[in-house]
Formats: sequence, C-alpha cells, structure tokens
Amino acid sequence: MNQYNGNKKFKIEIPDSVKLIISILEQNGFEAFAVGGCIRDTILNRNPQDWDITTSALPWQVKKMFHKTLDTGIQHGTVTVMIKGIGYEVTTYRIDGEYDDSRHPRSVEFTADLVEDLKRRDFTINAIAYNPTIGLVDVFDGMGDIEKKLIRCVGKAESRFEEDALRILRAVRFSAQLGFEIDCDTMKAMKKMSPNLKNISAERIRSELEKLILSDHPDKLITAYSAGITKVVLPEFDKMMECPQITPYHMYNVGEHTIKVMENVPKTRLMRWAALFHDVAKPDVMFIDKKNGRTHFKGHASVGSEMAPVIMRRLKMDNKIIKAAARLIACHDDRPVEKNRTPEAVRRSVHKIGKDIYREYLQLVYADFQGKSDYGKEKGYDEYLYICQQFDIIMQNNICTSKKELNITGKDLIAMGCPTGTVIGDILEALLEKVLIDPKVNTHENLMEEARKMIPSNGTAK
Ligand code: ATP
Ligand code: MG
Repeated sequence: MNQYNGNKKFKIEIPDSVKLIISILEQNGFEAFAVGGCIRDTILNRNPQDWDITTSALPWQVKKMFHKTLDTGIQHGTVTVMIKGIGYEVTTYRIDGEYDDSRHPRSVEFTADLVEDLKRRDFTINAIAYNPTIGLVDVFDGMGDIEKKLIRCVGKAESRFEEDALRILRAVRFSAQLGFEIDCDTMKAMKKMSPNLKNISAERIRSELEKLILSDHPDKLITAYSAGITKVVLPEFDKMMECPQITPYHMYNVGEHTIKVMENVPKTRLMRWAALFHDVAKPDVMFIDKKNGRTHFKGHASVGSEMAPVIMRRLKMDNKIIKAAARLIACHDDRPVEKNRTPEAVRRSVHKIGKDIYREYLQLVYADFQGKSDYGKEKGYDEYLYICQQFDIIMQNNICTSKKELNITGKDLIAMGCPTGTVIGDILEALLEKVLIDPKVNTHENLMEEARKMIPSNGTAK
C-alpha cells in the first residue's frame, strides 16, 4: 500500500465519517483516499463543499461494505455512502474518456492505480489525495502550486482542454474563488482552445459561470474576456467591455463598471446576476452627442430588462430568478426623489417597484454608485440615503403601497353593490391613489366611505 510514498508530515483534519469510510474500505483490503476539492480547500483553510473519496474498490464492492448507499453515478463508478444523513461520494479509481458533464465522462475505465485516477483530474491543486496513514499523495506538485497560488493543468494543458473544454472556464472559476493566478502555459492553451466551449452544454457553463460571479473576485470575468471565453459563452459581456462611457459621471467602460457593481452587491445569486446584466443594453442603445462627443444610453434599463431574460434563459436559469432580475434591471436607473424629495415620492416608488424587491433595488442603486466617477455622486448618494430612510419607515409602520395592502377588498365592494368586472380594480386603484398621498386614509371605514362615492350604477367608476 505504501507504493505511493505519501508525505506524512502534513496532517489534514478530516471528518470522522470520512475516516470511517476510508478505514472500512481499507479493512476490506482496498485503498481509499479523500481527494480533490475537499483536500485543496482544507489545506487552504476553506470550508469544503463536500468530501469525495476515491478507492480501488469497484462500485459493487463498495455497496456491499456499507449499510446505506445510493447509486448516484454508478455507471461512472460513483456510489454515495450515507452516514448520519450525509452523503459521501465514493468513486472507483478511473481513467476517463470524453466528458459529458463536469463529473461524468462518456466512457470510463476502472483502474487499480491511484496515480492514474489523479492524472484524469483537471488542475494540480485538485489532484491531491490524502489518507490518514499514508499522508498526502501529490504527484503533480499541487502543494507547490497552492503555495504559489497557481492554477495549472495536470499534464499538457492543450490536450486536457481538448478532452473537456469546460476546464477552460473552470480555470477562471477557481482563480476567482481562490484568488489564484493562472499559469502561463495553461493560459496560452485556454486562449487557443476557448472556441471549443461552444460544444459544452449551457447547464455546465452556467454552473461554472455562476460560481465565478458569486466569488470574491467577479473581476476575473475580465480574464475570461481576455481568454476569449466570454466571446463564446457570454458575448454580451464582450460588447460591454468594448462600450465606452464618455460622460463625467463615469470613469469606466460598461464592462469594467459592471464588474465594480458586481463587487459591491451582496453575494447572492439574484444580486450578482442582476448586477451582471443591469447595463447589458447600453452597447445597443448608445448614441454619441455630436456637439460634445458624450455617450448617452437612453432607455437602457427597460431594453436591458428584456435582453437579460433572453440571455438567462439561454443559460438555462430558473424562471424565478429571471423574473426577479428583469424587474431589478428595469428599475435600477430610477431616481424617485430626484425632483421631489418627499415621503410620498418614495411610497410611489415602492408601489412601482414592489416591496418584495425594494431592498434589492436599493442594493443595486448603491452598488451602481460605487462604479461611477465622483462627479454628481454626492447628490445621488444623498438621495439614496433619503430613500433608505423613508423605506425603513414604510416597513416599520406597515405602510400600504399596493392594492392588496388596502384595508378594503373587492369582496367588500361587491357586498356594497358594486358590479363585478374591471370596475373593482379601478376603484381599488383610485383608493390606493388616495392612500399613497396620505397613508392615514387606509382604514376600513374611510375606504368604505370613499368607495361608496365611487360605486357606479351603470358599471363604470364615477
Ligand atoms: P467545488 O468546491 O466547487 O465542489 P471541486 O474541486 O470539488 O470544487 P467538483 O466539480 O466538485 O470541483 O469536482 C471534484 C473533483 O473532480 C475536482 O476537484 C477534480 O479533481 C475533479 N473534476 C471535476 N470536474 C472535472 C473536469 N471537468 N475535468 C477533470 N477533473 C474534474
Ligand atoms: Mg466538489
């Protein structure tokens, strides 16, 4: 078993369940190691997402050794072992054919040699195995690259990207998550091979792209741009990078500005995607004022709210996030108190945008400032603070900003003799208008009285 010449000096903390799985496999005469992302992350003091185990045992042998297993990817050699409700993927050492998705090659061949299994892995930092008695098995110097903060392919970069082009995007994703640089030869091969990303499924691309933009370094999207990756997977970003903003309010092109905005919104899926696409229409709506050479982007928010869903659907994102992002993009440029700094103006804005995403709207507005020049920032920021303050008041006092929050319902109107049909909506709209002007009006008695004056005899609102 000691054929691997493990480095025993390096002790790694691994969870008891993982130790248990490894020792059961060993007691049955097989080899077993924790491997890949979990070892990399533990060495880096990051919290591993999940623990993967690689073993010389074949899937059916693994299944015999544990009480509870799931056949999650048995055709690729993976059995999920359940311990205390947590699943651990145990995969037989294998040599891969071409990949269909990030973990499942089209054909696999099992092997008895751990080193063969490590060879099939994408980057040196992901090809380190650990076993408590043998220590670290690190045949490609992944530790050295962790120390150098380097993403480097296992073996010849070009052929590794040829086998699976998704690895080109994964290189940038790991560089963004870990704050690492990409090795020179690896980068050269990425630039050469990036057109091959066209063969990769939208789901696989989306998953890596999402990890990239949700990381501490969404600015690495610019690396993806320079490597020719976005040209294939997100050509809209290339257009943003090539779209200047010639106005005193800005100091970056649209792409660089977009990165700043992403960096300044919270790390949630909705906010990062909305930030990525908030100005996506700018290149399309840009016009240059001949008098002074300044760029204008009239209508970019509403055009963007139509473009973003098309792109997000192409990336196979779920409808819920697509809808929410489109709503945020549509309103991100609203300046509700620019002319009238009043509580009513904020209530109207909350009515228009929606209470459910107003916090997120404010987050996007704030981040948008961080990506602009200092020109005009103070006034805008001052407005933003006022809106935040007024929004807090609205939330703390449950102030009504929508028809469904009125203290009267369509049923009440019908009970009062109002004909059914659109007139009910019209009356509620008219009542809401009064409540937006003065929230105190929102009592049941008041609204009943107001409604009585509006109920028509012939079916149309008075
Ligand atoms: P994460 O923290 O996102 O889970 P990870 O490194 O664990 O990162 P996974 O996609 O979960 O990444 O894959 C687990 C391991 O499988 C990787 O560390 C790597 O060794 C190997 N691997 C995954 N995808 C590929 C691929 N496309 N080509 C080669 N090896 C891969
Ligand atoms: Mg993983």
